[in-house]
Amino acid sequence: MVIIVETKSRIPLAKPKLGVAGKTGLWRLEKPIIDNNKCVRCYLCEIYCPANVVRVERDSGAIIDYDYCKGCGICANVCPVGAIRMIKEGD
Ligand code: SF4
Ligand code: SF4
Repeated sequence: MVIIVETKSRIPLAKPKLGVAGKTGLWRLEKPIIDNNKCVRCYLCEIYCPANVVRVERDSGAIIDYDYCKGCGICANVCPVGAIRMIKEGD
């Protein structure tokens, strides 16, 4: 099943697109998992994600475009409430 996530940015960074390297999410060794019940909608994960693939919505919480998330873990490190944890890709 393919899930298309609309992640228009509030910040002035280009959104990743399919290029010669393919979908950069394929490089990922670890994957961020968000518990939106814990999320306080602070937007830090969206602001700090270097790939610009996180979108935080007031109603639904944080959503990640896994096609282009590289698994760097910055979002998990900046989250003030521990709502994001990293797991091994494929777990
Ligand atoms: S792991 Fe890195 S690339 Fe993926 S959403 Fe978090 S900050 Fe962005
Ligand atoms: S950093 Fe954590 S609390 Fe803040 S919006 Fe992202 S998931 Fe929610």
